[in-house]
Amino acid sequence: MSDYSLSYWRTKAADLAIEGRAFIDGQYLTAAGGETFDCVSPIDGKVLAKIASCTALDADIAVASAKRAFESGEWSRMAPAGRKAVLNRFAALIEENAEELALLETLDMGKPISDALHVDVALTAQALRWNGEAIDKVYDEVAPTPHDQLGLVTREPVGVVAAIVPWNFPLMMASWKLGPALATGNSIILKPSEKSPLTAIRVAQLAIEAGIPKGVFNVLPGYGHTVGKALALHMEVETLVFTGSTRVAKQLMVYAGESNMKRIWLEAGGKSPNIVFADAPDLNAAAESAAAAIAFNQGEVCTAGSRLLIERGIKDKFLPLVVEALSQWKPGHPLDPETKVGALVDTQQLDTVLKYIQSGSEEGAKLLAGGKQVLQETGGVFVEPTLFDGVTNAMKIAQEEIFGPVLSVIEFDSFEQAISIANDTPYGLAAAVWTADISKAHLAAKALRAGSVWVNQYDGGDMTAPFGGFKQSGNGRDKSLHAFDKYTELKATWIKL
Ligand code: NAD
Repeated sequence: MSDYSLSYWRTKAADLAIEGRAFIDGQYLTAAGGETFDCVSPIDGKVLAKIASCTALDADIAVASAKRAFESGEWSRMAPAGRKAVLNRFAALIEENAEELALLETLDMGKPISDALHVDVALTAQALRWNGEAIDKVYDEVAPTPHDQLGLVTREPVGVVAAIVPWNFPLMMASWKLGPALATGNSIILKPSEKSPLTAIRVAQLAIEAGIPKGVFNVLPGYGHTVGKALALHMEVETLVFTGSTRVAKQLMVYAGESNMKRIWLEAGGKSPNIVFADAPDLNAAAESAAAAIAFNQGEVCTAGSRLLIERGIKDKFLPLVVEALSQWKPGHPLDPETKVGALVDTQQLDTVLKYIQSGSEEGAKLLAGGKQVLQETGGVFVEPTLFDGVTNAMKIAQEEIFGPVLSVIEFDSFEQAISIANDTPYGLAAAVWTADISKAHLAAKALRAGSVWVNQYDGGDMTAPFGGFKQSGNGRDKSLHAFDKYTELKATWIKL
């Protein structure tokens, strides 16, 4: 691993053969309408590949293939131990091809190569393996019936699943859907974001190599308003799983209602509070963590700790530590293994982030760090991690999800006020509290309206615990055995004895 260098990755990037076609029924195909769009790297503005721009036509073909595959039973009725073996092979192939996948991810959406390799690709393999390993260890139920009845409560795969995913952790977000959907025997159609389609297209081939039958895993690159909408409105898609913005999540609920009332599970946006009480056990650790919570992945993280709530009594001591910690997060070349902050995904996202920075200043917040676009000479899209002090929770930068490295500092005076500010948001994805008082930590965890609460850390977690949101951050949960609920129907079978 220590052999990696900028020139290593540059050479490897120059040799990459990038596939841009859709993957349907076990093969790569151009879009039925023949259209393509350019995949542009935010690192230097260069075109990486032409991508198939799929439409409703392709959705029809892929859904028909997925349905045929499901009904054949080759995968849907395979013994769970068999599906486990295939998913384990799939995970192993992802590990064997980790460098290529990480490179595709970095070139495509600008994240640092070390994160792509050690976070995105590593955790993708882990998610597939975890679900594969779990599936032959879960049992169905026998109901507590009267003596002359046998009641079986069984789980069945739902059939054709469509997964629409975002660009911030393209492969990893997909793996949180693919793992449980495939483990439980469904066929799946993955629609990656138009901003980051490359790894999804590549792993489809690995899935086939691993032994997933053709038609069981299809990839349709394209725009949300074309192929995404077509999948969401499709009468034969039984379940739609989504990770992305709250705005699109709401639209998908409408599509589900307008079509076949497909089951719909949404992982949406966030505006997570990170609360530092005066009795936090280690202010240095809290400061390091607060900086990482907003700068990691360029702040393009659904759980980004974008609101830092500081108890007034420690603010003068604590805030300089945060500013110092944030100064360690400097944008750099995403292919340099030392880089911690890469490029934003595209110029549109840059405009959004810069507009929010402007709005923070206009609303009277005080810019303490960052605030500017940098490295323009590279042709890439980079912005400095930015910190505003003197933010009130009513300001736009405290209410709206920026999805960039912009941190808002808000003061509070009491436990009650901290919780009230923390919960004063339409979102409910995550929250963190820093305190040495175990009772206070538990009381805060109970009072915070969020799907994940971290105590004396930010962003802990692995495959063993469910992940998802309260309120307008979504419904249902990814990860853990709870994720199987999304991909299975419960059936009650009554046998008269
Ligand atoms: P987005 O909602 O713009 O797009 C997500 C996906 O939806 C893309 O594939 C897009 O093509 C598709 N889409 C867009 N319009 C559509 C339509 N009308 N019909 C069907 N599909 C459509 O989100 P994004 O900008 O890609 O990602 C950022 C968002 O994702 C942020 O809000 C972030 O918080 C959220 N996110 C949430 C989680 C979570 O687990 N809760 C994780 C990562 C990202």
